Amino acid sequence: MIATLTLAALLAGAPAGDSLTRPMAVDRAGEWLAPLPPEVIFRRSYLVGFGGLSVVLIDTGEGLVLIDGALPQAAPAILANVRKLGFDPKDIKFILSTEPHFDHAGGLAALARDTGATVVASARGAEGLKAGALAKDDPQRAYGGSWPRVAKVRVVKDGEVLRLGRTAITAHATPGHTMGSMSWSWQACEGRTCKTIVFASSLNPVSAEGYKYTAPASAPIVQGFAASYRRMNAMPCDILISAHPDNAGPGRYNAEPGACRAYAARSQKLLGERLAQERKESTK
Ligand SMILES: [Zn+2]
Repeated sequence: MIATLTLAALLAGAPAGDSLTRPMAVDRAGEWLAPLPPEVIFRRSYLVGFGGLSVVLIDTGEGLVLIDGALPQAAPAILANVRKLGFDPKDIKFILSTEPHFDHAGGLAALARDTGATVVASARGAEGLKAGALAKDDPQRAYGGSWPRVAKVRVVKDGEVLRLGRTAITAHATPGHTMGSMSWSWQACEGRTCKTIVFASSLNPVSAEGYKYTAPASAPIVQGFAASYRRMNAMPCDILISAHPDNAGPGRYNAEPGACRAYAARSQKLLGERLAQERKESTK
């Protein structure tokens, strides 16, 4: 029994008995956590995540910032990628969260413990991270489930700027997929060439069975999506990284002009189709 547990833990890259990195058995874990080497996005911004889940590292010159934590069992592989780039995980000062869902926030508790970094999220995001569970108004609420809780979360407001070293990271509320969803943007400069990099939260209008976006109680969610589309359409965006990379395009990130607007448009189309379908079903 002990041998089996140890082997399972080794396979997952986690120390035996570590409750914060205990593998979550989810159907798509293999696809989401497909290992990839670290990659430079532009200048001192890097991808340190996986084939199906984005994790970003920013070197601000006075400490590191990580965005998102993937699944609980992903934390050791993320930190291994940080070390491969020549950085010390203990230099990570902030870990920003895009949404309180297990596939992006499951690893945050272990990453915060192992680095000493402060986790940062929106107010509603922080509620979800502290609970380690889906909010009552989450369209996927009926799926249930839980993930390791984050003890301490620093709350930032929509539009607030987080500064570290030479980097200023802006928080953009992008509610809808969850009411706590937050996207993050910052500038990376090479000489006079500056690019705005956007790490966009998931805007996928997906739900558990039986959820109705047309129900009166869902109005804040639908209004949230609308506000998120306006925000994504308006924000400077030279390079788009989405929480699930396949939502942004074929590569690990999308540097095409209008990538953020196209990202919003895809969600808007899916939500429109979903609302039309629900209305059609209700008049049958
Ligand atoms: Zn999600």
